[in-house]
Amino acid sequence: MNRIRLLPEHVANQIAAGEVVERPASVVKELVENSLDAKPTRVSVEIQAGGRSLIRVTDDGMGMSRDDALLSLERHATSKIQRAEDLQSIATMGFRGEALPSIASVSRFTLTTREQDGDSPEGAQVIINGGKIIEVKAAGSAPGTSVEVRSLFFNLPARRKFLRSEETESAHIQHYLTLAALAHADVAFTFVKDGRTVWQLSAVKSNAGIDSVRERMRQLAGTLPQLIAVDASGPLHEQFAADETGHTDGSKSDVRVWGLIGAPGVARSTREDQHLFVNRRPVENRTLNHALLEGYHTALMKGRFPVCCLFIEIDPAAVDVNIHPAKREVKFRDERAVRRFVTEAVKEALLGFHRASASPPQPVVQKAQNEVAQPISSPELRLPELPPITPAPPQSITAPLPLAFRRESEERAQAARPVPAISNPQSSILNPQSPVTPLLSVPLRIVGVIGKLYVVLESDRGLVLLDQHAAHERILFEQMMERTERGEVASQRLLLPETIELSPRDATFVRGILNALTRLGVGLSEFGERTFLLDALPPFVKSTEPRGFVLGLIDELKAAGEQVNSMRLGEHVVAKTVCRHAVKANDPLDGPELENLLQDLRHCAMPYTCPHGRPTLIEMNFRELEKKFGRAQ
Ligand code: ADP
Ligand code: MG
Repeated sequence: MNRIRLLPEHVANQIAAGEVVERPASVVKELVENSLDAKPTRVSVEIQAGGRSLIRVTDDGMGMSRDDALLSLERHATSKIQRAEDLQSIATMGFRGEALPSIASVSRFTLTTREQDGDSPEGAQVIINGGKIIEVKAAGSAPGTSVEVRSLFFNLPARRKFLRSEETESAHIQHYLTLAALAHADVAFTFVKDGRTVWQLSAVKSNAGIDSVRERMRQLAGTLPQLIAVDASGPLHEQFAADETGHTDGSKSDVRVWGLIGAPGVARSTREDQHLFVNRRPVENRTLNHALLEGYHTALMKGRFPVCCLFIEIDPAAVDVNIHPAKREVKFRDERAVRRFVTEAVKEALLGFHRASASPPQPVVQKAQNEVAQPISSPELRLPELPPITPAPPQSITAPLPLAFRRESEERAQAARPVPAISNPQSSILNPQSPVTPLLSVPLRIVGVIGKLYVVLESDRGLVLLDQHAAHERILFEQMMERTERGEVASQRLLLPETIELSPRDATFVRGILNALTRLGVGLSEFGERTFLLDALPPFVKSTEPRGFVLGLIDELKAAGEQVNSMRLGEHVVAKTVCRHAVKANDPLDGPELENLLQDLRHCAMPYTCPHGRPTLIEMNFRELEKKFGRAQ
């Protein structure tokens, strides 16, 4: 007896819907992607009850003829690809031809459309109920397309039960729309939720990508944290670029990474404000997440995530967008090459933040300089309201959003190892003519020290506080890494070498980092199974108790390496820990020493954070002070 049958069309559609339509946000995503593929100037989205009762997406794009409207509801009907080879180079958002029939099979669905350049004065309307066509008729409509989805999953009660609260589903929808709006700043977006207009974003009329993205971010968020422009392009050095014939063609494709990233010290406790796009498609990709963290390196605290809106533009053939039914994830042909490129682009931009604007600073405050009073984030001095923002010129830093910084005691355990530099990242990072001068490039005057830790400074923009320890750590760390890179070991022999006995576990741990310690100037050698001989320390360690210093250091390194074994603790993690420990062991600084500290900090490549990513400086400008004292609104 034959048992195999082809599934009826509407069952096949419902099965596909299971993959494509996870929740209301997936419907919004598919419909908005269709709208964006139709080259619109505006897209409007309206939802009710978290998308359960209504989702309506309307665009003024190219629209469809009556016949195409009917065809679009067939499975695997698409205007976007024709041949299998087209899958190699997808330039549109959609291509699977599954979304409309899938959505229509699990909702009460109305498609109304009229061709933009058609002759007919009328449009066509198709009404479908749970996959069954109810009516096809002519309908008056403006050119473009409107899709209305009511009672999502009405015929799949099990699915409907799995939906979360209205707020959760709306939040998912809004998150996707944020991404879509960021990637298409040239399109006007409207978002209406339960009858209330959430956004009305006008199209950003600018050809310069970074400016438009900044403007779109401002439209969405109102105020922006301090951001740095990234723009790097060059050849992607792929290792495994091979075509179907097995022929390897080296590095033909170019890649460009551009957008905005948070300045040192700007970060969030979730990835929520980390917006990544590949060829304008919002994506999730671990390689890119890692590349970002690696690029920030010591400018990010453990457990914090960068704020960014970054676009990767890459040969469509070098990326596979067809690995996820909802096309949310992508895979690069050479993940490592992409990771390296993005890491370098981010790193360069962050380094350039300080470098590009380093005008020679003067030790004494001079009045009436032509600087705009816009400070680096003032995290601890959080204000209830943010200062108004003056529109930023191209590629400059915008006003900061004070962020709540968390004091973290431990460094990221699996801190990234430095990667080799890419050959030609033409990073145009920061406009040197930027009116917002980074804090260390304006004259600062030392007022005093409070709590034996915070140095109070004055600039002609306002009040500045410097965390003496954090600054000192940064300076020592950079000096130490620089020397180590040159192959120098700066260490000072102890007059009296000491033996240190450790537990068997600690001894194994220390053996794993012995080389790193020695290269960094901590002269430790094996002297027995559990015993080590300490005969030298880095010169800046002014400890009267070398043994205690090393024991404390080991404890801290153990904590840093909790999740990894000691062999994977990178040299810079060890260096960071040595520096922190050295600073803790030091005495408070006096006047001239503080001046030197400031001067040394100015010479650092990444002066605004300690090696653990905490801020070294915070600023409160006069405007903020005036607000606090009720002198200004
Ligand atoms: P895909 O987007 O993968 O091609 P869909 O099922 O989402 O598949 O859409 C099927 C087809 O319907 C699209 O290829 C497109 O030609 C047409 N279409 C869908 N939405 C719109 C729209 N808003 N404007 C114009 N054409 C549309
Ligand atoms: Mg589609």
